[in-house]
Amino acid sequence: MTSVVSSQQSVGKTPPKPAGWDRTRLGVLVPLGIVVAVAIVCIVVAALTSAQRADDVALGRERQLLTRAITNLGEWSLLRIKNVALSNAAVSADDIAQGSARLQQRLTFWLSPLRDHNLVVVIGSNGEVVYSQPGRLRSDNELAQAATPKLQTAVEFLRGRKPSMPAGSTRLLGADPLQPGDITETVLLLNVDGHPGVVAVLPLGKAKTAPAILAIRFVERRLLANISDRLQLPNLRITGREAVTAGNNAYAFTDGQHQPIARFVWSSEKPGAAILDSVIPFIGIALAGFALLAGLVMRYMRHTAAAIASGEDQLRYLALHDPLCGLPNRNFFGERLEAAITSVRHGGPPAAVFYIDLDHFKDVNDTLGHPVGDELIRNVTLRLSHTMHDDDLVARLGGDEFAVITFASAEPAALQEIASRAIAALCAPYLVNGHTIVIGASIGIAIIDKRTVSAADIMRYADMALYRAKNEGRNRACIYDEVMDADLSQRKLVEQELREAIDNDRLKVLYQPIFNASGEKVVGVEALARWPHPTRGLVSPAEFIPIAEHSGLIIELGMRVLRRACLEGKAWPGITVSVNVSPLQFRRLDFVNMVERTLMETGLDPTQLELELTESTLLGNLDSAETAMHRLRSLGVRLALDDFGTGYSSLLYLRRFPFDKLKIDRSFVLSIEKATDAAAIVHAIVSLGRGLGMTVTAEGVETAEQHLFLRAAGVHCMQGFRFGTPCEPAEISERLALPGPGIYRSIEGDARAALAS
Ligand code: C2E
Ligand code: MG
Ligand code: MG
Repeated sequence: MTSVVSSQQSVGKTPPKPAGWDRTRLGVLVPLGIVVAVAIVCIVVAALTSAQRADDVALGRERQLLTRAITNLGEWSLLRIKNVALSNAAVSADDIAQGSARLQQRLTFWLSPLRDHNLVVVIGSNGEVVYSQPGRLRSDNELAQAATPKLQTAVEFLRGRKPSMPAGSTRLLGADPLQPGDITETVLLLNVDGHPGVVAVLPLGKAKTAPAILAIRFVERRLLANISDRLQLPNLRITGREAVTAGNNAYAFTDGQHQPIARFVWSSEKPGAAILDSVIPFIGIALAGFALLAGLVMRYMRHTAAAIASGEDQLRYLALHDPLCGLPNRNFFGERLEAAITSVRHGGPPAAVFYIDLDHFKDVNDTLGHPVGDELIRNVTLRLSHTMHDDDLVARLGGDEFAVITFASAEPAALQEIASRAIAALCAPYLVNGHTIVIGASIGIAIIDKRTVSAADIMRYADMALYRAKNEGRNRACIYDEVMDADLSQRKLVEQELREAIDNDRLKVLYQPIFNASGEKVVGVEALARWPHPTRGLVSPAEFIPIAEHSGLIIELGMRVLRRACLEGKAWPGITVSVNVSPLQFRRLDFVNMVERTLMETGLDPTQLELELTESTLLGNLDSAETAMHRLRSLGVRLALDDFGTGYSSLLYLRRFPFDKLKIDRSFVLSIEKATDAAAIVHAIVSLGRGLGMTVTAEGVETAEQHLFLRAAGVHCMQGFRFGTPCEPAEISERLALPGPGIYRSIEGDARAALAS
């Protein structure tokens, strides 16, 4: 069994995540993520580059300082040599050139103040060593031997006699660019067997061949310590090719061939690291901020997403369900029906559609009020759902219309069986708010098969089947077959022809006389429409009135019948002219105005006009019906309740509405002689009508016995073939012209003929 709850659950509760939402989320998150990532990368790169830049600047400065300090050493030596050169003991260039006696002693004496250097050499005009004086250290002698040829080469280079400086040397100070042969004061850095030394070169004169004094100081540990102290370069040392470890800087002096002369390494503060150290916490905070921001945005989006998703769920639920009973509505049903058709077409389980229409639901709503009507719908929902299978979809299409998609079977017999069960369940009495209510149900069934094209087709078939079920007497189910399609086409054709007939005013109006109780005097006539069809003869209103009502043609038709009846009724003063009014016509807001206008235009005495309404005319809006009836009464028009006993037969109608006449339906008259309860009902209706001050007319009186019974029961007026069939207006005029009681007799022959037919 299907329940309302389960059918609710089947929809909207777990809707597929809307793809649009994921796209939206990606659309926000991806750019946000990119912005955050780019910002983070920029910050990190900025921090690293500025740290690197600071390191580079610091390194450059330290290298400059170091170079300056090494050059200073040479300059200091140069200054010392100059001082010595200016002393009284100075040996002139000529003396050196001439190689005078005691030259060596004089040079030794002269250059003795330079003994703190590791080597002092005087090189003559031809590059020869004139004087060589190693320092006080023992190693100075060995180094002197290795250094001397290099010094000679350097001097010869400075004199322009050699193409290049000796390997492992570079100039730190001196004329630049070097003018060939123009020897000047120069400071060199020279590597001697792995010992870098600073060489100060002072020419003793401006001549190209002037002898030169060279003093060399090796950059040894003490000197380095001194430089290290002065320049704030901790751990300054000379190393080979050792790798520079973190926290150290290195600088190598190279010769013309880019070979290292001396490679200095020292511990460096690396300001970049300090910058990084101080910036990293802020970067950390910024990153954490970004992460927090991203987290908050994500959270906010998740919450928003959840809120939107639940809102969407709710909207979807509301959009797809009936608010009163919670069943899926027409939209949802349509979606499922399309899906079922597709599934059947692809070989899925067979399916069928039940189109269910409740009878008398509107009556309940109108008479007992909407709250009772609503409760009744909920009860119907439960019963219908319980009758169906779990997989079936039960939906409310609106008002008193329900529909089911059942997958239980596609066999006509099985479907009829299910439909019968549903009808039995729906027709069983309901107890709602203390009222016992009985309603009916008709079902149209359409089977979904592989040929089914669309949901619209299936619903049209089910509707046709429902139409047939109702036409066949309600409370039954009909399965659609192709004949119904033909019926529908036929109906459409009839509708078209009827429209043409109305437009061309080809409809006729016949009048059936209504007699007093004794049947001797015509007291009125009822106008009855007839359609003279070119091929089918006179078509009965029983056939074309429903079509006219269904298509809306009834409005025009009713208006024309009323106008004709008013015009022709003028010829019969003193008798009532009854005109049937369709519910559709009566419910129009301009109905009373239309009647008033017709009366004025035709000139019929309003008191002659009687409008026949059925109970169904009053349904829908009791208040406006009541107002319209009072307005008609105030015009002088009389009102009759037609076919009493076949509708909802509510006493409320009789009490509330200002009817002048009650017409007992001919089905009761017909049964008088056969069923005793019918006779009792007729008695009851007559006394009820009389009690409420109404005239009671019996319809369909065909036999003398019926006439006698009705007359005895107190019926005021008689209508039926016993007294006269509907006839042309001229005939009515003729009959009215005949004197008194002769009327009854004169029409007796016609009536017999009608009965025989
Ligand atoms: P109704 O208003 O109840 O009209 C009485 C119907 O009973 C008429 O059928 C009439 O010919 C038939 N009748 C009268 N006496 C006898 C009898 O002794 N035996 C039998 N078997 N039938 C009898 P008709 O003319 O076929 O009209 C059928 C219904 O069509 C009418 O029932 C009325 O409801 C509707 N109708 C007819 N003309 C109009 C019209 O102009 N407008 C509207 N809205 N409905 C109309
Ligand atoms: Mg009638
Ligand atoms: Mg009637």
